[in-house]
Amino acid sequence: MSGRWVEVASGVFAGRYAELDQTLGLVVGSARCLVVDSGTDEVHGAELAAAVRERTALPWELVITHAHFDHFFGTAAFLPCPVWAHERCREVIETDGDEQRRDWAARYRDKGEPELAHRLEAAALVVPDRVFTDRVELDLGERMVELVHPGLGHTDHDVIVHVPDAGVVFAGDLVEQGAPPHAGPDAVPGQWPSTLDAVLRLGARVIVPGHGEPVDAAFVRAQRDELAR
Ligand SMILES: [Zn+2]
Repeated sequence: MSGRWVEVASGVFAGRYAELDQTLGLVVGSARCLVVDSGTDEVHGAELAAAVRERTALPWELVITHAHFDHFFGTAAFLPCPVWAHERCREVIETDGDEQRRDWAARYRDKGEPELAHRLEAAALVVPDRVFTDRVELDLGERMVELVHPGLGHTDHDVIVHVPDAGVVFAGDLVEQGAPPHAGPDAVPGQWPSTLDAVLRLGARVIVPGHGEPVDAAFVRAQRDELAR
């Protein structure tokens, strides 16, 4: 693995990568596992898939936290499998995915990273096939996880992954460690703080951001206050 796993609770892992300081996830049950986000391109997705296989041989399902290219262009490496997302996430991947790929490939070329540009251009655009709007529960076998849309914030369709028995939440880019939360043109800053309140109400011990190291509730509360200001 080009990244490294951090086991934040028994059978719950944060996968840390140098590129974009990104953090992907893995939750292992007794019957199946859930992979959180698929990475920046298919090479990255395949690395993640291989890293998952170092931890478990169980069949996987995938959840995409939101429709930003670095969270979904690795999906093809996991197929065939169920791919979960918010309904709007599917819509945005479908309508905006190709443009994001072009933009980011150009950005990588400008940064002098043509290899990453080429990898992104070669990645298939995979549209999630299991969508929901508010909340869905997945049974991983002796472990339930909930996929929740806690409200608007980093995008209008962010999904978090709550693992209640472990006290862990994968927050996608609603939380960012090591840099201020990224608010692009598709962000809804006015509602972001109340959305983080909803995340905090879950009472998780560990919150895994989409970029950066796992954090605690106090960190998220401080980030919430910063966003509110
Ligand atoms: Zn994002």
